[in-house]
Amino acid sequence: MFNGRVLIITGAGVSAESGIPTFRGKDGYWRNLDPTKLATPEAFARDPNLVWDWYRERRQRVRQAQPNSGHQAIAKLAVQAGEFLLVTQNVDDLYLRAGLPADKMVQIHGDIFMTRCSRCEFRRYEHEHDVGSLPKCPECGALMRPGVVWFGEQLDAAKIEIVENFMRGGDCKLVIVAGTTALFGYIIGWALRARGQTGQLIEVNPEETSLSQFATKSYREPAGTVLPRLVNELLSNINRVRRSIDCLQVAFRRPCDSSSGAG
Ligand SMILES: [Zn+2]
Repeated sequence: MFNGRVLIITGAGVSAESGIPTFRGKDGYWRNLDPTKLATPEAFARDPNLVWDWYRERRQRVRQAQPNSGHQAIAKLAVQAGEFLLVTQNVDDLYLRAGLPADKMVQIHGDIFMTRCSRCEFRRYEHEHDVGSLPKCPECGALMRPGVVWFGEQLDAAKIEIVENFMRGGDCKLVIVAGTTALFGYIIGWALRARGQTGQLIEVNPEETSLSQFATKSYREPAGTVLPRLVNELLSNINRVRRSIDCLQVAFRRPCDSSSGAG
């Protein structure tokens, strides 16, 4: 079915199946506060302690969570596909822990374990434990903040460039958008541009989204259910094609018996 480039775009729905709440469901509320109002530069300026408390609890939740079958299926495809990029809106590390190579993934909304200075370029990784209740930059003394993209902020230009660079490499035979309601214009834009004129666009989301009208196929099921099935089908098709090529290569020397095993 495909032997070309693959782009996967994912959102909170995939990690929700590992117990990490999405911002938009009622589970996302924390101390009765709306996460879409907490994840903003305004909230941090008003009450940095409150915002840090929230992020530290979320970090702890991510540390305790485990990758699910959706993360594992994507990691498996990443390792076996030739040219592959995952663009994820998720700030957790569950894809990495599922075995996805770091250089095949862009966390377009940042990394929840990164702590960065609100003034200078200083940043540090706090994967194991958090440092201080209201961290100050050791370089310039300014307040440190979570290294994520908040509502109303620009995406990191370097991360956009990684996605654009992948796009410049050619159209994708396959684009999968999973576990995201695709509300951001850039997500829809990347999905449509990546597929070009002939690529397949597969959507995996329990509900209809603004991307559904463009999809070649939509699966209305959770990512953890659909993705393992989908990836296994794709990889068995690739392996079948590879076996056929192997057979052609040896056909000049001896007849090809497709039913025989190795040896
Ligand atoms: Zn600083």
